[in-house]
Amino acid sequence: MPATLDQLSARQIAAGVASGAFSAVEVAQAALDAIAERDADTQAFLQVSEDLALAAAARVDALRAAGRALPPLAGVPVAFKDNMNLLGTRTTCASHMLERYESPFTATCVQRLLDAGATPLGKLNMDEFAFGSTTDSSAFHPTNNPWGLALVPGGSSGGSAAAVAAGEVTLALGSDTGGSIRQPASLCGVVGMKPTYGVVSRYGVVAFGSSLDQVGPLGRRVEDVALALNALVAGGRDPRDSTSQACEQDFIAHLDDPIEGRHVGIIPSLLEAPGLSAEVRVAMRLAAERLEAQGAHIVEVSLPNMASAIAAYYVIAPCEAFSNLARFDGVRYGYQEPGCATLAKQTSLSRARGFDQEAKRRQMLGAYLLSSGVYEQYYLPAQKVRTLITADYQRAFERVDAILMPTSPTVAWEHGAISDPAALYLADVFTISSNIAGNCAISVPVCLGSESGLPIGAQLQGPSFADARLLTFARALERSCSMEGLVAPGFAGRGGELA
Ligand code: GLN
Repeated sequence: MPATLDQLSARQIAAGVASGAFSAVEVAQAALDAIAERDADTQAFLQVSEDLALAAAARVDALRAAGRALPPLAGVPVAFKDNMNLLGTRTTCASHMLERYESPFTATCVQRLLDAGATPLGKLNMDEFAFGSTTDSSAFHPTNNPWGLALVPGGSSGGSAAAVAAGEVTLALGSDTGGSIRQPASLCGVVGMKPTYGVVSRYGVVAFGSSLDQVGPLGRRVEDVALALNALVAGGRDPRDSTSQACEQDFIAHLDDPIEGRHVGIIPSLLEAPGLSAEVRVAMRLAAERLEAQGAHIVEVSLPNMASAIAAYYVIAPCEAFSNLARFDGVRYGYQEPGCATLAKQTSLSRARGFDQEAKRRQMLGAYLLSSGVYEQYYLPAQKVRTLITADYQRAFERVDAILMPTSPTVAWEHGAISDPAALYLADVFTISSNIAGNCAISVPVCLGSESGLPIGAQLQGPSFADARLLTFARALERSCSMEGLVAPGFAGRGGELA
């Protein structure tokens, strides 16, 4: 019986290509078949880059034919959130504003995966400009959660999580400003990591909140995510992103180190947070038990200012978004309203027609919050809260190596079920603080909810630049949870056969 691509890990695909068990072009074709078969249900993709995929795969096969050593992700199918530039594709940010925007160059994060031999399958859906937690605010179409097509995949990297969960690709990149990699990973039952701020270059990724944004990988296994991260940091600091830092860590080498004797923090009061579902609470206890069974010490810690994180984030993030999105003025970038008599009219109509509702809401909020008199009342205190939260983490990480907490207060919900924007903002309660402090965080599938039968992810957070060690904890959790490599039911094996 031929294997299907979705059964294989990134390492197995690269090894199979290197040994000649199958060619990279065969893998690319299998991924294209899987996408053709499955994406009508998930609608995870905005563009499928068939030509680029086949050309990249052919280059890998040519290397092998020439007897050269193959790179670590040789032939591995990947796709990218559509806020990342890839030459030969459009970069739309799921917005009418950039509907026809052709990538003028390739983002560093994308290029590094290509340099590692990965096969680019295309661009993935997202909430418009990454504002949101459902992917329903894409200007083009919603994406469906592979675990239930009436459900949201989460967001804003919902296309990335859904494509991975449905086995359309092995790996995807997402971006995380307030939880946008981890929350959809949790809702779709896959692994998603937000590395420490500065670990992955954002050059060529359309900015949302520049002091918060971080790019990271999603996969069905911790090992796949670790391999992707190795590729993302290979080549060192990117001089084209001033926040990028050199990162010498090997994310694979210590993956299976024992966690015996290590300390994992829990924050009991978080489990009493309003809106936290009973099944997520049960899953968190289970995760703690699983880590304890492997010899970790579970220690109570507190992040006293975390309660203010949402308020601070929804001041800082809109302010930065307002500043970053000012460039879409209908002149140089993006949609340009035709036939306007004056420049002012052209700018205002281009922005009014180019942006959808949530993008407008964020920018108007940012403009207001930065205006004189208001700035002192909100932006300044939000920055002070940021300092306090960062100090809370520093204190906690003196006592523990990682902190365990939920990723999302609930499992996936139905499209349109939450219409109040503030209610959606509140659901970011567990993810936002690590963007505020800049430390690393990952979501790992733990179990299916006892009531819903839907995946629940646990979040592990670690100190800044301890990303490799965080992955060791994530791997320990994965090992004990038997969710590794899971493809959403109903998708496994649909197309994507490898001869
Ligand atoms: N849900 C958060 C927001 O809407 C996070 C988004 C993100 O991380 N890009 O701002």
